[in-house]
Amino acid sequence: MSKKNHKYIFVIGGVMSGVGKGIATSAIGALLQAKGFKVNLMKIDPYLNVDAGTMNPTEHGEVFVLNSGLETDQDMGNYERFLNRDLGSEDYMTSGMVYRSVIERERSLGYGGKFVEAIPHITDEIRSRFQSAAEASHSDVSVIEIGGTVGDYQNFLFIEAARVLNLRHPQDVVFVLVSYLPVPGTIGEMKTKPTQNAVHQLNSYGVQPDFIIARGPVALDAKRKEKLAIWCNVKPEHVISAPDISSIYDVPVNFEREQFGTLLLQALSLRTRVRRDGLEKWKKFVRTIASATEEVRIGIVGKYFDTGDFVLSDAYISVIEALKFSAYAVGKKPVLSWINAKDFEKDVEKLSLLAEYDGIVVPGGFGETGIEGKLSAIRFARENKIPYLGLCYGMQLAVIEYARNAVDLAEANTTEINKHTPHPVIDIMPEQKKHMAEGKYGATMRLGAYPCFLKKGTIAGGAYVKGQSSKVSGSVSERHRHRYEVNPEYVARLEKAGLVFSGTSPDGVLMEIAELPRRRHPFFLGTQFHPELQARPLAPHPLFTAFLKAAVKRSGKK
Ligand code: GLN
Repeated sequence: MSKKNHKYIFVIGGVMSGVGKGIATSAIGALLQAKGFKVNLMKIDPYLNVDAGTMNPTEHGEVFVLNSGLETDQDMGNYERFLNRDLGSEDYMTSGMVYRSVIERERSLGYGGKFVEAIPHITDEIRSRFQSAAEASHSDVSVIEIGGTVGDYQNFLFIEAARVLNLRHPQDVVFVLVSYLPVPGTIGEMKTKPTQNAVHQLNSYGVQPDFIIARGPVALDAKRKEKLAIWCNVKPEHVISAPDISSIYDVPVNFEREQFGTLLLQALSLRTRVRRDGLEKWKKFVRTIASATEEVRIGIVGKYFDTGDFVLSDAYISVIEALKFSAYAVGKKPVLSWINAKDFEKDVEKLSLLAEYDGIVVPGGFGETGIEGKLSAIRFARENKIPYLGLCYGMQLAVIEYARNAVDLAEANTTEINKHTPHPVIDIMPEQKKHMAEGKYGATMRLGAYPCFLKKGTIAGGAYVKGQSSKVSGSVSERHRHRYEVNPEYVARLEKAGLVFSGTSPDGVLMEIAELPRRRHPFFLGTQFHPELQARPLAPHPLFTAFLKAAVKRSGKK
């Protein structure tokens, strides 16, 4: 072991996926942090993709970009939000990454002529990645979520690596099974059998869970706790009841009601490092959510709507959370509506419905679908003085809209959609051309944190100063994920027509923020970066808060 007594908590799913393993992992992190420990949270995705960057958001949900530029699973976003800190590339692992390292090592004779096998070589690589993450983050405890459900073919090697770690350091490793207890409608009673089966399956891998998080529509009663404890071989108090609740941010406080944090520390032979209740700020945040009753209505004009509502919220999860945090920060209850951009293409009359909203957001995206609809929505927001926030594609489209309707470049476009447009106001970045020509799509966008210089006296400049003074000395760091940019050749014309580029790359070449002056519009602002990726419940993002403030003002006027 690299670091003596470093502690590991493995979170494994049982029965079925989608029951909140990521949130459980995040909440465990928040609990341990509240007890004074430095925690890193790590996500394992068992698929063969090297990262999450090439996946379609409709199928996989949002791609969450770290400061390093690594494109990861949306759970990493929850982790950062709950920990209120940045995570590193080491905190994310896929089977693709692991296999790639092992195969590359084999190709360079790194295994000295031996057979290279799943066990022990893949599992050794996995364990060494657990350690690298612990080292890189200087944490006391790593909470590691193994994606998928026990019994899956794909995640077995990760569980095996964890088993070996536990074998060598039994004092330092804890296993938590997040299971589901259904209440079938016809029976009306909570059933424990699927969880028992999941535990038995885990046992067959040589792993005994120390804790069971019993997810379900209702709380677990004493009788079933006892039953699970006996059949699954865990202490009754180690069966943690985790019923459905209205806000995920209630979870740390709910867990602690079951003494989960204290019990975890005991299981790891650790003692709390704080005297006062470290969860106070979470409790306060939860109270803020509950006390916000006056509504602020935000319309999100997007395109990933085709496969049902739940998919949508996954595809834009960071945007949704960022809006909520800032709404709570200004004391309002966020009411978010999904508006399919394509609707405006079929029926322009529908645009007038946008006037009902206090603010409009066009989030990031790729490709052609719904673009003209989004452009019409942006125009409507600009002309009717509805607060507008454009994120990445939403900023590029705002620039196109402005070029078309305020600069008289009627055919302005992005070369992402029309390569032959006479006015490519948004164009592919020079280095991106090469990647595209070579068919290199994975991890080749402009990714991760870059500095953005702010112009004084602008909306953006002011928002950051008010919101996060510690981060500001004329420049802020924001995360990116794009191939296209505002074409430098059009900047002067756009500026002359009144658009203000209030944020740029340090060399002034890349336009990072575009806005209209406040005297012309209450709030019309777009960012080439993704501010939503750094919005946190306990530290809302200043640009979102500025947008929400403008929306609240409008709601008061209506
Ligand atoms: N499609 C645009 C680009 O590649 C915007 C990307 C995004 O919104 N993340 O530049």
